[in-house]
Amino acid sequence: MRVDRFALDGRVALITGASSGLGAAFARTLARQGARVALVARRRDRIDALATELREAGLTAFSCAMDVTDAASIDSGMSAIDAEFGAVDILVNNAGIAATKPFLEIEASGWDAIIATNLTGLMRVGQATARRMVAHGSGGTIVNIASILGIRPASQLAPYAAAKAGVISLTQTMALELARHAIRVNALAPGYIATELNRDFLGSEAGQVLARRVPMRRFGTVEDLDGALLLLVSDAGRFMTGVTLPVDGGHLLSFL
Ligand code: NDP
Repeated sequence: MRVDRFALDGRVALITGASSGLGAAFARTLARQGARVALVARRRDRIDALATELREAGLTAFSCAMDVTDAASIDSGMSAIDAEFGAVDILVNNAGIAATKPFLEIEASGWDAIIATNLTGLMRVGQATARRMVAHGSGGTIVNIASILGIRPASQLAPYAAAKAGVISLTQTMALELARHAIRVNALAPGYIATELNRDFLGSEAGQVLARRVPMRRFGTVEDLDGALLLLVSDAGRFMTGVTLPVDGGHLLSFL
């Protein structure tokens, strides 16, 4: 009999930032792999539409509003998911924002917004989920979405790169402390993938120059991340924890 260690049948997967880009793609991938997916983001219309699309395809999906910068919103979202599906087995901590500004022009409000979403929000959702996993006693897996910019920074992205470097460090601490509870915690570090976050930049002349610095000579697609995601969340990656996995067409090798 063939053993499929990538199967996720019946597992409950929570995906933050599921209303667009990577998060929506991750939700589709996990649902097709058999997971029951809980979709959260602030734009309720978008996650409701995605949940409907998945259910119409015969998959299991639930959507509820969650703002990862708001502790009360995280609490009520987690309770709604608990009531719908029971304990979460898989968390994809994906919600994030970005802004481009020279370091000398950064204002406190711009800095705070990115740190609040990309680092503090990710920590809060990770903590709320891990507490429930520990209470439930059946372990789980958490994938924090970092970025190659958390490993090697680029100009004009100081708060984003600092937040993503923080995500990588937090991933390691979470992995250290949660292993005894059978919870694995890893980070996925994508290179540039065309989404609403960066579409204007990637389509610009500067974006095309950047594409030529990627050894594989292209930006990624959301589907390029599927294999790494499934490895990290499934039993196929059962001895992996604390890892940061770049998926970037070789971009980290050619950073100037
Ligand atoms: P998008 O802008 O397409 O999606 C961002 C998602 O985050 C949206 O679903 C948005 O939902 C959600 N979000 C933002 N703020 C909040 C909040 N306060 N509470 C809840 N959800 C929130 O970007 P991407 O899909 O490209 O990015 C997804 C993740 O991948 C980010 O963490 C990003 O840093 C990371 N990444 C992206 C790369 C790329 O090249 N695209 C490369 C490396 C990493 P809503 O607005 O409805 O709340």
